[in-house]
Amino acid sequence: MARCDVCGNEYDKAFTVQRGGQTGTFDSFECAIHELAPECEHCGCRIIGHGVEADGRMFCCANCARHAGISEMVDRGAADAAP
Ligand SMILES: [Zn+2]
Ligand SMILES: [Zn+2]
Repeated sequence: MARCDVCGNEYDKAFTVQRGGQTGTFDSFECAIHELAPECEHCGCRIIGHGVEADGRMFCCANCARHAGISEMVDRGAADAAP
């Protein structure tokens, strides 16, 4: 049995996640995301996908990066759609 670092639930299927020098024990991905996922600097949502990093700042998407004044970001999906 392991105890979740976030909600304190003891669960036999709890797992650990390591990120950088930080290790956490969680009973669910929701708790792991709550503890470890970076926040978008523009909209504040949790970045669960790859996100966008620019100037050492993290954003959930290129649109948020643009709103924050970073002009050269393009979402990969939008770039791929161009002929
Ligand atoms: Zn939990
Ligand atoms: Zn965002």
